[in-house]
Amino acid sequence: MLTSQIDLKPKVKAFLEGEKELFINGEYAPSVSGKKFEVVNPSTEEVLARVSEAQKEDIDLAVKAARQAFEEGEWRTITAAERSHLIYKFADLIEQNREELAQLESLDNGKPYSVALTDDIDGTVEHFRYYAGWATKVLGQTVPISQDYLNYTEHEPVGVVGQIIPWNFPLSMASWKLGAALATGCTSVIKPAEQTPLSLLYVASLLKEAGFPKGVVNIVPGFGKIAGEAIVNHPDIDKLAFTGSTATGKSIMRKAADTVKDITLELGGKSPNLILEDADVEKAIEGAYEGIMYNHGQNCSATSRVYVHRKHYDRVVEELAKRAQATKLGNGMDPETEMGPLVSKRQFERVLDYIKIGKEEGARLVVGGEREFDKGYFVQPTVFADVEDHMRIAREEIFGPVVAVFPFDTTEEAIQRANDSDYGLAAAVWTENIRTGHQVARRLKAGTVWINDCNQENPAAAFGGYKQSGIGREMGNYALDNYTEVKSVWVNL
Ligand code: NAD
Repeated sequence: MLTSQIDLKPKVKAFLEGEKELFINGEYAPSVSGKKFEVVNPSTEEVLARVSEAQKEDIDLAVKAARQAFEEGEWRTITAAERSHLIYKFADLIEQNREELAQLESLDNGKPYSVALTDDIDGTVEHFRYYAGWATKVLGQTVPISQDYLNYTEHEPVGVVGQIIPWNFPLSMASWKLGAALATGCTSVIKPAEQTPLSLLYVASLLKEAGFPKGVVNIVPGFGKIAGEAIVNHPDIDKLAFTGSTATGKSIMRKAADTVKDITLELGGKSPNLILEDADVEKAIEGAYEGIMYNHGQNCSATSRVYVHRKHYDRVVEELAKRAQATKLGNGMDPETEMGPLVSKRQFERVLDYIKIGKEEGARLVVGGEREFDKGYFVQPTVFADVEDHMRIAREEIFGPVVAVFPFDTTEEAIQRANDSDYGLAAAVWTENIRTGHQVARRLKAGTVWINDCNQENPAAAFGGYKQSGIGREMGNYALDNYTEVKSVWVNL
């Protein structure tokens, strides 16, 4: 299956051969329990690394370090400009290690190396640079009350934040969380997903090299039920920021209530993509395919429901199927690979289960639907047509390379059906009439709407969900609100 393989960089080899430990209070250290867990290469099913596994005691140490750094350390007293410089320096170091990091990302996540390099790692650099710029621009207001009173607001860092991230874009998701937290002066205890801890652990040494004071960022790989829950329940964490499944998000929200922790949740999606009668169909097909198949469908804003005007329906189904058949699956470290494996055995089985459910429900399997190769967690890009709105494959997040295509007759009907979902993360509409595009965008209940495009994101553009897709917005200046408390100060003149 592997035709050729990109050579591992010496630093990647050394990293994989060395100890992979937690990063607490500015130092790598093993878990106090001595426990380790295995990280598997999803392309080969081989164990790639053994990593220290954070337990509750380790989370306690990490929170203590983050609290000390927040209350007493140098981090508290440095200027906003110095904070900004540190983040810029960190971004530069990530850029200098971009090939190493892209290799690690490809090895434990399975995504093609070239995609990891440009989208994940360069995206991470861009994200940190964007928030480095914000560090000096977190401004309060002066409020005109009367001749006798002055009122002003200060935006203070919220404190110690617990950040829990998923495996689909490992380092990039860390940058979404850390960028705004560091810019505003918070300290962090961040848990990567158990499937993909490597890039963030590698980056820990770069935090140190950049000069971040100890305890500002603490990295605690481990499992959701142990390390994750210890973060969620910790009484000395001021705020939680989570990206992952809606089910876990709900459980975090319930638990956060006990200590009234502020939360930001970026959860799942089942995003609709509307190809209207007057769409540029060729472009829409290209966009629809990328919209679902990018990152092997393991993308929270994947446009997994494609509604096509009946006039174009057969052509769209046929063209999506052609593209699916032409996509080259393979090991992420093979330069010819266009689509890698799913991240884990669990995810692989889950996606194959949904395909089985789709067939049992009576949807028409046009192409794909099988595993590919006898090793690795590969699932063929899969197209289901004639899907009905009530079917589970039309309603539930599959998080794999599986698209459901539906015909519609009127734009009004397409909007209604697009909005008939528990989710509301993203949506797309294709039309050559820009007025129609804006009108439909207004009606779609989603945090992001693309007109004549899919999958666009940028650190400056807000991102987050309506309905069960989440609470709060990341990116742009909106993310700064997640990490600040507003203090209103009254002065009796
Ligand atoms: P998950 O929500 O279980 O895991 C995401 C992160 O949360 C990981 O770091 C995990 O260790 C942690 N976690 C898990 N349970 C926790 C708990 N009880 N308390 C605290 N932290 C906890 O997601 P998953 O099981 O890896 O994937 C399952 C499904 O979730 C996917 O099939 C997909 O539908 C969805 N998902 C969505 C996103 C997204 O970006 N929205 C990302 C990953 C997965």
